[in-house]
Amino acid sequence: MDHVVVVGAGLAGVRSVEALRAHGYQGRITLMGEERHRPYDRPPLSKAVLLGETDSTVVDSDLDALDVRLRLRTAAKGLRRGVLETTEGELEYDGLVIATGAVPIRLRGEGRQHVLRTIDDALELRERLVPGARVAVVGAGWIGAEVATAAARAGCSVAVVEAGETPLAAAVGAFAGGHTIPWYAGAGVELRLGAKVATVDPDGLTLMSGARVTADVVVSGVGVRPAVDWLKGSAVEIGDGVIVDEHLRTSLPNVVAVGDCAAWWSRRFGARLRVEHWDTALQAPDTAAAALLGEPAVYDPVPYFWSEQFGHMVQFAGHREAAERTLLRGDPRGDGRWAVCWLTADDRLAAILTVDRPRDVVQGRRVVQGGQRLDPVRLADPAVPLRDC
Ligand code: FAD
Repeated sequence: MDHVVVVGAGLAGVRSVEALRAHGYQGRITLMGEERHRPYDRPPLSKAVLLGETDSTVVDSDLDALDVRLRLRTAAKGLRRGVLETTEGELEYDGLVIATGAVPIRLRGEGRQHVLRTIDDALELRERLVPGARVAVVGAGWIGAEVATAAARAGCSVAVVEAGETPLAAAVGAFAGGHTIPWYAGAGVELRLGAKVATVDPDGLTLMSGARVTADVVVSGVGVRPAVDWLKGSAVEIGDGVIVDEHLRTSLPNVVAVGDCAAWWSRRFGARLRVEHWDTALQAPDTAAAALLGEPAVYDPVPYFWSEQFGHMVQFAGHREAAERTLLRGDPRGDGRWAVCWLTADDRLAAILTVDRPRDVVQGRRVVQGGQRLDPVRLADPAVPLRDC
């Protein structure tokens, strides 16, 4: 293998380059991305960058030392066996890593809507988060909650409009999400649940009910879709993202996929997973690089992610769809440190969401991995260390 092309210069792309070199690959590497920026981290965009604490989140990686050719402002347009079509012409490859991430879904309407995916999005939005600005955030998911946190801290008047019955309902279900409802009022943020947006207008939002939400700034945080349109018509199988096996190999030989755009087969959970979170972009490239180089690695993690919202550290590990029931650990109305555990029918931990209980998530992730049975009575007692349940 003489030339590996990595498409998508985000975290998963950079980590793929690092992993290829770590696995001893000495051939040429081209890292190609359509943005104009050197690879940067996204989690701080909705936190430190929006809060004005930093302007740059460039990934700490020495691309020169890795001997990689970085081609920015170049987008992949199509793929044939051995040939990548780009906006700058064709590029031949022996091995290809697809790491094109995801793109925000936009709402209908003529009004201006901000999304938050790139550093440019974050800097543009930050300019508009000024004291007194009326900000309407659509979606009380991870991004919506973090944007609302930053906007409220900036002194804006914030309304969050959410179609579901609780915040985070799509991500972690209404039981867990429901316990975050009081955080909104606590931060002075208006939360409208069960409210579906029809259109974004020049002066705010029109809801399906006909009601209006007046706003100076509209932010859509209604999710993303994998950035895989450029692969349509190629031999790479696409479903909800690029379909890859447990080695992260696509249906086309010598082509692997990683990060937000990849839906891999999880042996552990017997399901196809696509996880749009930082830890996956960080870890999966090691397996993908190994697979490309013909080593027998398998990617089978217990997925993990975190979110910082309304002064709380929210962390999640596992795959809740594998569970039968939920159990509350701690009292959300008490000291504010609590967790929701998802248990299988035979009392094994499938997933855990923790709020300001970092030790629980670390131990919980290991317990999900180990697969041991737990005593639900002990698990419900926050004084009992999770690993001893
Ligand atoms: P990306 O980071 O999206 O990188 C893909 C790159 O590919 C992009 O630069 C894109 O421009 C480029 N590209 C796309 N199409 C093409 C093409 N056709 N040709 C060339 N280049 C292309 N996760 C957490 O776990 N915790 C958090 O707190 C958290 N906060 C987040 C906050 C924000 C605002 C955002 C946006 C994400 C956050 N995430 C968080 C998610 C995490 O950042 C992503 O999972 C991670 O960035 C995925 O990395 P990636 O490399 O797969 O994709």
